[in-house]
Amino acid sequence: MTQSQTRFTVEGLVIKEMDVGESDRLVTLFTREAGIIKAFAAGAKNIKSKKAAATNLLTYSSFTILNKKGTYRIYEATPKASFFTVGSNIEMLALEQYFCELALVFGENENPNEELLRLILNSLHFLTKEKRYPPMIKAITELRTAAVCGYMPNLVACQGCGKFEDSIMFFSMENGALYCGECRHAADSLPVSKTVLSALRHIVFSEFKNLYSFNIPESDADYLSGITEKYITVQTDYDFQALKFFNSIKE
Ligand SMILES: [Zn+2]
Repeated sequence: MTQSQTRFTVEGLVIKEMDVGESDRLVTLFTREAGIIKAFAAGAKNIKSKKAAATNLLTYSSFTILNKKGTYRIYEATPKASFFTVGSNIEMLALEQYFCELALVFGENENPNEELLRLILNSLHFLTKEKRYPPMIKAITELRTAAVCGYMPNLVACQGCGKFEDSIMFFSMENGALYCGECRHAADSLPVSKTVLSALRHIVFSEFKNLYSFNIPESDADYLSGITEKYITVQTDYDFQALKFFNSIKE
């Protein structure tokens, strides 16, 4: 190995893949150690190669990477877990793509964010194991991503008078703040019932180990998912393509 070439090992999730030429692939990895990394995988389209399996979208793998003057090449790769389920419905796949997009948008190049990675991996796990109602997983992922990536809403109490609870409270998308019925003024605020408010608070404030362990009726989860989606979109002013696609195919 020459001096201009170094080698390092990371673990990460393939959040984007692109074919290059006849047999190569350019993958975007969300790694535990180094955040977002783009790397070439030579020969990765050869389906017999271990590298092919390890560089598939939605696969969590261990990678040995060569850094040659700032260009990363995957030297070796071993798959550890795949969140791509054969025969899974298109709605689930679209949601998985959206979680990858969240990782792409909020992850930072060569800067680790273990909390976000853990969140994305757990959401993919719960989604593919069909353990929770998908809109619930979507809401958890959106709002917790926002909270850990600099867009933490203030859900403690009414911003105007400090009231903790009301039969209906209002959540302002623009301010990321809560208002009671009397203090409500912003036109962009959405009404939230006690059930939905407790879910919003749980997603933002709970310890990670308890994050997925709560339940609300499906109709409330659908409403909650609409709110968290609007919140992350308004706050970041980002046009999430995978979210658009997901919404376009939803029944
Ligand atoms: Zn108030």
